[in-house]
Amino acid sequence: MNIIKSDGCYKVESDTKKGKFYLVDISKPNCECPAFKFRKWCKHLEAVNNYLELEGRGKYNKILQVVKEFEPIESIKLIDMFDEELVNELLRKGEIIEEKGMVRILN
Ligand SMILES: [Zn+2]
Repeated sequence: MNIIKSDGCYKVESDTKKGKFYLVDISKPNCECPAFKFRKWCKHLEAVNNYLELEGRGKYNKILQVVKEFEPIESIKLIDMFDEELVNELLRKGEIIEEKGMVRILN
């Protein structure tokens, strides 16, 4: 399914009508398509959810790769390279740990 980012929302191409895009707002959530109005859920919303999940996982994997390669790495450096929110999320999940400003993989 073709997904295009657009002003904080996502345009998702219709499966049945090529060239027809529905605007999906994941924060509400909302989609312009008839199915969403009817069921409050649709495959466009699902497609964006899956897309975001994959994108998030990709970013986490990149962080973990860097930590593995350079551990222990200064948390300041890590936050400089990546989004602080993502680093904090990994700390919360316990996949990495921070001690005295140094980050390493939890073994
Ligand atoms: Zn939809």
